[in-house]
This record gives sequence, C-alpha cells and structure tokens, in this order.
Amino acid sequence: MTQTENRPTTETTATTFESLSPATGDVVGTHPIHTAEEVEAAVARAREEAAWWSALSYDERDQHLSAWKGVITRRLAQLAEVMHQETGKPHGDAMLEAALAIDHIAWAAGHAEKVLKRRKVPSGLLMANQSATVEYRPLGVVGVIGPWNYPVFTPMGSIAYALAAGNAVVFKPSEFTPGVGEWLARTFLESVGRPVFSVVTGLGETGAALTRAGVDKIAFTGSTETGKRVMAACAETLTPVVIEAGGKDALIVDLDADLDAAADAALWGACANAGQTCAGVERVYVHERVYDDFLASLIGKARGLRADGTSGAQMGPITMPKQLEIIRSHIADALERGGRAVVGGLDAVGDRYVQPTILVDVPEDSLAVQEETFGPTVTVAKVRDMDEAIELTNATRYGLGSTVFSKARGMELAGRIRSGMTAINGVITFAGVPSLPFGGVGDSGFGRIHGPDGLREFTYPKAIARQRFKPLMPLTSFRRTEKHEQQLASMMTMLHGRGTTIPKP
Ligand code: NDP
Repeated sequence: MTQTENRPTTETTATTFESLSPATGDVVGTHPIHTAEEVEAAVARAREEAAWWSALSYDERDQHLSAWKGVITRRLAQLAEVMHQETGKPHGDAMLEAALAIDHIAWAAGHAEKVLKRRKVPSGLLMANQSATVEYRPLGVVGVIGPWNYPVFTPMGSIAYALAAGNAVVFKPSEFTPGVGEWLARTFLESVGRPVFSVVTGLGETGAALTRAGVDKIAFTGSTETGKRVMAACAETLTPVVIEAGGKDALIVDLDADLDAAADAALWGACANAGQTCAGVERVYVHERVYDDFLASLIGKARGLRADGTSGAQMGPITMPKQLEIIRSHIADALERGGRAVVGGLDAVGDRYVQPTILVDVPEDSLAVQEETFGPTVTVAKVRDMDEAIELTNATRYGLGSTVFSKARGMELAGRIRSGMTAINGVITFAGVPSLPFGGVGDSGFGRIHGPDGLREFTYPKAIARQRFKPLMPLTSFRRTEKHEQQLASMMTMLHGRGTTIPKP
C-alpha cells in the first residue's frame, strides 16, 4: 500500500494519521490530525507567547535560540534518523541538511538586532527640523507551512528568521514529515521552556485551517498550485504571505568551463535527494563546442550512482508516491517526442526508487523541460552560444535558482538570468550562505527567507518622525500663507528645478 492510500481523506472523522517510511512502507509514527478549532487554539496560545517573546531584548532571544541550536547540534544524529525514517533520504544527506539549518538559526539570531533595530535615516531638507527613525517590529504570530523534501532546512528558513525577529511561530509540517516537525517543537520547548514555537499536524486541511486561524503572516513552502490556494485563503483576511514554490532550474555551461566540475555539479544538482529539490538542476544547456565532452563526463559519472535501500546507495526513495507517476509521465513524453535517454529511461522508474535519468534531444516545449519533474532526471541540450542558453533558461514560468559554469563570463551571465538566485561554478551554494536572500520570481513565488531580507520579511517597518524644533515654514498647518507657498516653490526650483533636460544623443 502506498503512503497516500493509507491516509484518511479530509472528509474522514479520523483523529490521527500515520507517518510511513517511503523505503519500506513501515509505520514510523502516529500523529494527531488537528482540527480547525485546535489550530485556532494553538494560534491563540502562540499569541500569548508572542507577547512575552517580543518583549525580550534581541540579546535574550539570541540566548534562547542559541540554547535550542545547541540541543539540535548535540542530537544531530537523532534528528537525522527521524528525517531518514520519514523521507528515506540517506543519513549523510539528512545530517548535511540539518547542519545548514543550524547555521541559519545562528545567523538569524546573531544578526537580528543589527538588521532590525531602530536606526536614524536622513530627514531631507524640507523636513530638516525632524529626526527620522525606522525600526522593524515583529508581526505577532507567523504560520509556517512546510514541505517534506527538506523538512528541516526549508521551514527553518522561515521559523528561525521569524523567531529571531520577535514573532511566535505555529508550524504545520507536511503530512509526510510530521515527526520531524514534532521533534523540532519538542526540542525548542525543552531549550526555551515556553512554546513560542509550536507544531500542529494533519493533512492539507490542517494547513488550510492555519491560513484562516488569524495569524499575522503565512510563510508557505510547497508547490505553486497549493501556493495559489494558500494565497487565495489569505486574501480573505488580508493576511500577508511569503510563497516559496517550485522551480525548473537550469545549469548553463560555457565553452571555457571546467567541464568535469560542471558535470559533477549537474549530476549532484539533478540527483541529490533523489531529485526532490526545489532549486535542483532539471535542465542543462551546453555550448555546442563542449557539448560532447560534457555529456560524456556526465554519463560516466551518472553510471556510478544508484538509488536503493542499501547502505552504500547515494540516493533514497521518492518520498511522495504520487510523484512517481509525474516522473514517469515526463520521461514518457520526452521519449515520445523524439528525446533519447542516454542514462536511465522509463525503466528507471520503480515502485519506490527512481534511478538517474539523462535525457537529450528533448523538445523545449515538452513536460520534462517546462514542468517541475521533482525526480532524479535532467535534460541536456546543445546551444549555439550563451545568448541562446540564457534565452532558453529564461523561457519558463518559474524563476527560483540557476547555475552558471564559466571562467570568464560568470557574473555577466548570472546577471542576465531571471531567477532569484544563481550559483557560479558551484551548485545551490547560495542556499548555504545565510546572508543571501532565498526565494524566486514568477511561478516560483515571492518574498524572501534567509539574510537581512529574510528577517525583515517577518516584520513591519515602523517609521517615526520626531520634531526637533519648530519648522521655518508651517507647511502642515492652516497657518500656511500664500507667501509660504511662494517660498516653497522657490526652494523646490532651487533644489529640483535644474538638470531635467535630457541631452540629445
Ligand atoms: P505541497 O504544495 O503539496 O504541500 C506543501 C504544504 O502545504 C504541506 O504541508 C501541505 O500539507 C500543505 N497544504 C496542502 N494543501 C493545503 C491547503 N489547501 N492550505 C494550506 N496548506 C496546504 O508541496 P509538497 O509538500 O509536495 O512539496 C514539494 C513542493 O515544494 C515542490 O513543488 C517544491 O519545488 C516546493 N519546494 C519549494 C522550496 C522553495 O524554497 N522554493 C523548497 C522546498 C520545496 P500536506 O502535506 O499535509 O498535504
């Protein structure tokens, strides 16, 4: 029986659901299906916690978050085991994911004050009598809805940054990884002593209830389709949202690239986590003069890779069973339309595991090039030059990440790609740099986690103008006269009246 078949439907009266191992189908945990009333109660409790938490100093919050970070770090192997059980990903991958998340907790907690604290800004000549300041205040309670593919790293991009900014958080993990969510909330309570960060579990309906439970912001990570539903629900109450959705990221290879490194990155980007990575590599465009050498290198490396349940396997199972059919349909469509599988192919799609698949000669308007596959497959296409590579890279509705391999033109090419993030001569490296914002454009969503933008995302700017001395002209008073208005006009002419003529070419 597949995981999905074993789940109660949303109409059910069941009060619990089971979390299963995608590798074996074994039950690894039983969790409550929280109802809309229970979700509302969790948000109400979080609001009380938010009052306490937001009143602490940045330093005090840093200390609490550091205590939590310490507990997670000391129990890294235990967390990795829960992640491994629920997603099937190899232990080493789970450790790496959790390690990156820990780094983000440290960065968010350590930089919140610098980024968000009150600071003076210039008040301008017209308002020279004012002292102007801006600070970033917490929103209150943030609802975080997370996916299963990176059940620690991905939601932590919202959880850690929202907490560091002074908010309480209610987290709804994916129904495939509830145990990971509960583990995080349990260790937080143990470290901090108060449930400023809490978890509600259940199916999609529980997530939907969170969007209507009166939170001050929803941070959603998941598919574009669910993102649209979340946004529609939030629109009813004008609740702001961050949407971190899917991608169809490309890697481009210029003729001066280190081909071995590019092939290594393309393979890892496409197949790590069995291809279930939002910013994974799904398409590769290679300069025609190095195409054959690149492809030969990629094929050679891919042959050494396998997905199965044995201890030496570099890839785990496909976590969500219904994804197998999507992967199969993308490969089938590519092959039917003239594409060739130089590694893998339709036979690569098993009952639980998918072996690496490299597709060439695939038409650009096929499913495997346009839609998110979310499996260990990649299309490789030959391009005339980097202009064509950029044009094809930009020809999707997504715009999450991208990769450029070029010695001479990395920065130039990166700047021309329409995506929220680009790695040059490395792959997905931007996700591990805590000071860089993470997020996309187009169907990949909007808003940012990570970095200063990620901290500000969970705040509202508070602007204050304080009068230091009486103004020379009473501009914002009914005492203003015609003479004042003339003085204002002269002043504006002096300040802004020159240099407006655009020189003729
Ligand atoms: P889904 O969109 O299926 O689910 C995401 C979350 O939304 C889950 O917790 C899900 O709960 C919940 N949910 C489902 N229905 C609703 C609803 N009506 N209202 C509110 N919440 C709801 O995505 P997946 O879990 O399958 O994750 C994979 C997707 O996530 C891929 O498209 C991937 O690209 C994207 N992703 C994007 C990232 C980014 O940072 N841009 C990072 C990681 C993944 P339940 O599981 O219980 O149904």
